[in-house]
Amino acid sequence: MSENKDPHVAGSGDSGAGEVKFVYDFTEGNKDLKDLLGGKGANLAEMTNLGLPVPPGFTITTEACKTYLDSGEEPAALRDEVGAHLQALEAGMGKTLGQADDPLLVSVRSGAKFSMPGMMDTVLNIGLSDKSVQGLARQSGDDRFAWDSYRRLIQMFGKTVLGVDGELFEDALEAAKVAKKVSVDTELEAADLKKLVTKFKRIVKTEAGRDFPQDPREQMDLAIHAVFDSWNTDRAKLYRRQERIPHDLGTAVNVCSMVFGNLGPDSGTGVAFTRDPASGHQGVYGDYLQNAQGEDVVAGIRNTVALAELESIDKKSYDQLMRIMETLENHYKDLCDIEFTIERGQLWMLQTRVGKRTAGAAFRIATQLVDQGLIDEAEALQRVTGAQLAQLMFPRFDDQAKVEQIGRGIAASPGAAVGKAVFDSYTAIKWSRSGEKVILIRRETNPDDLDGMIAAEGILTSRGGKTSHAAVVARGMGKTCVCGAEELEVDTKRRRMTAPGGVVIEEGDVVSIDGSTGKVYLGEVPVVPSPVVEYFEGRMHAGADDADELVAAVHRIMAYADRVRRLRVRANADNAEDALRARRFGAQGIGLCRTEHMFLGDRRELVERLILADTDAEREESLKELLPLQKRDFIELFEAMDGLPVTIRLLDPPLHEFLPDVTELSVRVALAESRGDANENDLRLLQAVHRLHEQNPMLGLRGVRLGLVIPGLFTMQVRAIAEAAAERRNAKGDPRAEVMIPLVGTVQELEIVRDEADRVIAEVQETTGVELKLAIGTMIELPRAALTAGQIAEAAEFFSFGTNDLTQTVWGFSRDDVEASFFTAYLEKGIFGVSPFETIDRDGVGSLVRSAVKAGRATRPDLKLGVCGEHGGDPESVHFFHEVGLDYVSCSPFRIPVARLEAGRAASTSKGSDHR
Ligand code: ADP
Ligand code: MG
Ligand code: MG
Repeated sequence: MSENKDPHVAGSGDSGAGEVKFVYDFTEGNKDLKDLLGGKGANLAEMTNLGLPVPPGFTITTEACKTYLDSGEEPAALRDEVGAHLQALEAGMGKTLGQADDPLLVSVRSGAKFSMPGMMDTVLNIGLSDKSVQGLARQSGDDRFAWDSYRRLIQMFGKTVLGVDGELFEDALEAAKVAKKVSVDTELEAADLKKLVTKFKRIVKTEAGRDFPQDPREQMDLAIHAVFDSWNTDRAKLYRRQERIPHDLGTAVNVCSMVFGNLGPDSGTGVAFTRDPASGHQGVYGDYLQNAQGEDVVAGIRNTVALAELESIDKKSYDQLMRIMETLENHYKDLCDIEFTIERGQLWMLQTRVGKRTAGAAFRIATQLVDQGLIDEAEALQRVTGAQLAQLMFPRFDDQAKVEQIGRGIAASPGAAVGKAVFDSYTAIKWSRSGEKVILIRRETNPDDLDGMIAAEGILTSRGGKTSHAAVVARGMGKTCVCGAEELEVDTKRRRMTAPGGVVIEEGDVVSIDGSTGKVYLGEVPVVPSPVVEYFEGRMHAGADDADELVAAVHRIMAYADRVRRLRVRANADNAEDALRARRFGAQGIGLCRTEHMFLGDRRELVERLILADTDAEREESLKELLPLQKRDFIELFEAMDGLPVTIRLLDPPLHEFLPDVTELSVRVALAESRGDANENDLRLLQAVHRLHEQNPMLGLRGVRLGLVIPGLFTMQVRAIAEAAAERRNAKGDPRAEVMIPLVGTVQELEIVRDEADRVIAEVQETTGVELKLAIGTMIELPRAALTAGQIAEAAEFFSFGTNDLTQTVWGFSRDDVEASFFTAYLEKGIFGVSPFETIDRDGVGSLVRSAVKAGRATRPDLKLGVCGEHGGDPESVHFFHEVGLDYVSCSPFRIPVARLEAGRAASTSKGSDHR
């Protein structure tokens, strides 16, 4: 905490100087005390201090909760401290809690630092009893209201504090409505509600084995303990593990005097946003429900009206609410959401917080607030995230299109996918082979569905959450996925899905799924390209008259990020086309050009011959044929990236990837032999395939090992690079080639390759007369390389961290195998919150990167450092790479804007402002 005064220590008063203070009046806190008062409590205090009408109350700190959870007992001083604050509250209100003739009533509300499902529900109307309900009736002049409030208390208290099954109360309420032949609860009269109270009390007695407590203080204390205990429910614990919220924060408890929205038509309750959370536009957004208490809005018992209608219902409160919303926005300098209640024409504020918003609104709001002078550009940059930008870059469904939504699940992996419904992987594969687009629909997926998932445009499941198999694997593949759409009934045997309302989707029917919103539509919804991508592609100009407001906002924030970032951003691109696109997206070079793709297609045969060569002459022959082909590839690449660095990785994958499939080949050979016309070449090939077969190809003959074992391979590649560079130079170009050696584990490997490379480069310089400056460096992707980085730096001008392989080798698992098989279990057990292939594992893999950076720079201070694993485009990982001081990150062209943005955010957060 940054406050200079320790807020845990009371100044003077109730608990005595120097002692820990466990209770804060709403007038004592402020919005920066979220650690101690929770989000809700801190903001209630902030509003109180702004002079807004907040019902008085106090907050019990997270510290009290922690003590209670650690020791099983509340801190010794808490009871008296709560008592003192309650007394002060009572004095201010002129009545005591549960006072028989005129009761003070309170709500007990949980509120942790981060809002968290699984925490205890709020209990309203605490303080009502058989006696005080009479007093409330007399005071309000409304019998019905008093008994309605009492039955609500018993219901909420019974359910959330005493653990009684809530349905029992619901059923009894329903029965009362049926008996009375009415459809909504407001039509029940005082006498009905009185009977219901008797029934509710009986339910409590039978189910909880105790009477509903009549002592108001006991009600309050039990509710407070229940809030404390709810910190450790299974649901809350699981949520924290997944969201990486520390388990030791504890929750605060807010005790807030009641205001009543259920006192008749001049009362009501509502929610509001200070601007549209979907577009960012200022206006009147929210819902209002007349004659109701807060929980009715959420429960959807009756229909709410649009907030704008409040103007005609209660103009005075409406105007006041508009002024308060403006005050809040100017104060928080951000979009706020609000809960309020009107009691007989008097407006009360019950909650506010900085509101959630869509990705598009985040960018718009950030720039709108800059224009309003509320925040500066640095702050605007912190108000948006790379994840939001990524979301804006997916193609999306046309908003203008007429759609028929049939369900909604969890938005597990973004994108918009359209295809024919199939209910098993086999059909998915079969249909997609014949050119159909399919959506794979399953109850849930398992490792057997992998091929079907690859074949499908998108995946839809009716079960499972963000960490289910479908979600994890789809995200890993970058495939659109909606999971856990529980209202859709999937029948895989009969190959059909039934939506609420009886719509049946048979195999072959077209469906559309939106992985960014979780919505599922019947039929084909037209897909439109993202305007943000159009902008990055240069097909839309931010300054143009018809430019979208969103594009203009993205443009401004990107420009600022580019100005402040220290990390450079390069692309992983293997050909000129990708390189050009990367350049349009803002790449400052190529960080990884894989050469293996250049060996496929027509050229595979040359590689086969190279591998099969028995003599040097044969080998040289095929290398000689490969050389001009490689050279041409590099010339194109250097041209596309003229003036910018291009890092070319020499051949990396296991050789058998270039050879035919062993089974297919065996069959061919066997058939030929049985016909008696065995093909000499096939036989040799089969032998080679057997010879080169590896149990663990990932850990076998690949990378630098290939270069050392197959004479002439790497030198051919280096020659192609050098000659291409010389040719570009002669054409007045500015090629900046860097030669990168993969999978080095020890400096000796690098030295040998390097010596040969230097010799070849010298030769090319000699023959072409062009002076070449080619940097030679290595990937750091094996633990041994990282551990001996100091030695390796002696032979390397640059390091590029290959964090994919480094993650595999540090953890000792292969991505293809584990992601599809047991990652779901690991994520669900909370072993990691996110796959280490998505976000760099800071503690393990990250610590090797950190120490290798240090050791490398110690040997060679001007060592250039980058990363070319997929982590290079992952927001959180970019922050890590900024922190450890890399020079650049390299990622796929499409992720470049995200990396630029996050590099900017990392550079400006590191000046001291908080991570968001
Ligand atoms: P949540 O975190 O689920 O929003 P809240 O503590 O905000 O829980 O309360 C649930 C509902 O009860 C909200 O609609 C809130 O406005 C309402 N509420 C809470 N305290 C009071 C109170 N003292 N008087 C009237 N309504 C209240
Ligand atoms: Mg609330
Ligand atoms: Mg690798």
